[in-house]
Amino acid sequence: MRNSPAPQAAFHLLIRPARDYSDRRTVELEKAVLAVTSIKVPFNRPSFVGQELRWVTDAIERGQLSGDGHFTQLCNQQIKETTGARAALLTHSCTAALEMAAILCNLEPGDEVIMPSFTFVSTANAVVLRGAVPVFVDIDPLTLNIDPARVSAAVTGKTRAIIAVHYAGFPADMDALAEIALAHDLVLIEDAAQAYGSTYKGRPAGSLGDMAAFSFHETKNIISGEGGALTLTRPDLVDRAEIIREKGTNRSRFFRGQVDKYTWVDIGSSFLPGELIAAFLHGQLEMEPEIRRRRCGQFDRYMAAFADLAAEGAVALPVIPAQTTGNGHMFYLRLPDQQRRDALISYLKERGIIAPFHYVPLHSAPAGLKYGRAAGDLPVTDNTSDCLLRLPMFYSLGDQIEEVISAVTAFFRSGGR
Ligand SMILES: *Cc1c(COP(=O)(O)O)cnc(C)c1O
Repeated sequence: MRNSPAPQAAFHLLIRPARDYSDRRTVELEKAVLAVTSIKVPFNRPSFVGQELRWVTDAIERGQLSGDGHFTQLCNQQIKETTGARAALLTHSCTAALEMAAILCNLEPGDEVIMPSFTFVSTANAVVLRGAVPVFVDIDPLTLNIDPARVSAAVTGKTRAIIAVHYAGFPADMDALAEIALAHDLVLIEDAAQAYGSTYKGRPAGSLGDMAAFSFHETKNIISGEGGALTLTRPDLVDRAEIIREKGTNRSRFFRGQVDKYTWVDIGSSFLPGELIAAFLHGQLEMEPEIRRRRCGQFDRYMAAFADLAAEGAVALPVIPAQTTGNGHMFYLRLPDQQRRDALISYLKERGIIAPFHYVPLHSAPAGLKYGRAAGDLPVTDNTSDCLLRLPMFYSLGDQIEEVISAVTAFFRSGGR
């Protein structure tokens, strides 16, 4: 990647599995891309774990490509079992699931929803699209999850909901947040985009609030390209969620034979993916325990490899929140300042290893300033955004993890601190 930025198209060629190359020109192009970019270890590589193509072929043979067929039902059932939620509904993305959650909250213009600033834009957009105001609070300096004390202090008469983000797949302190939600009659939503398969006090992510949004984007653990799900724990929300997802119609009830025709009954949109996506996802969900096991192994390897650097104060390692288990979604390091963080990113990039920084805070982003509001100052968010970098972690990483570890170690041993 040296001085010439790799074009997006070239990057996608690079990460395609080799068996997909059918003609020589493509192979030559890939070689050229590798030469130009010199990427040795990408940050992420979409995983193919076994039966995805078989189930996609099966979906085609079944003759239904639109949504809510055989494979969508299988996926909904698998997600329900893993999350322990009362209902799971496949969506196009976590973004779509968050938008459904915001509709289910009955947000009105001027209502407020408390969330971390250290998150992806979709958490805030979902709220803004309803005319409501995202209220950004700081994160806990150890876990990087939303700080319940800050949430408590940010509640006003207009607050309607709290969205907790499970950063790096480790659940936020949901009991503390549930207590605040109960005291002020607020809806509690999990942005569990990164947390499929994680637990908090023995309970799975997806069952820890009123509703939860998951992502199956190709950068997450379980993938279908683009994809997501909304899970619900409250029985009173299930019917309406089905209606919102089916363009505001009661088509789901119609399919189950509960009404004899379907009609427009509420607001909604098209939030459901087609069967090809669901078929691919089914192949991934079948392998979820194995994917999680392998990624958690990578997480543990990084933790052990950098223990000495952490003891010397050169880096800070992830702090696993009490009574949680992760899913090996992400491994990050925090450096003492931005200058050294940026130097490490460049050092790794020169050696063909892609280790990006993460969220740019939402509270100070142009749209955050326009549509949202910061509750107090957010020093931990600002500092974390400046000092954190993420290391490569994906299903097929294999022994390349040792190259990453060697390069990071060499940076510090050669005086890069
Ligand atoms: C990835 C992610 C999203 C968005 O997921 P999509 O499926 O791409 O819409 C939302 N929130 C968080 C915290 C994420 O990590």
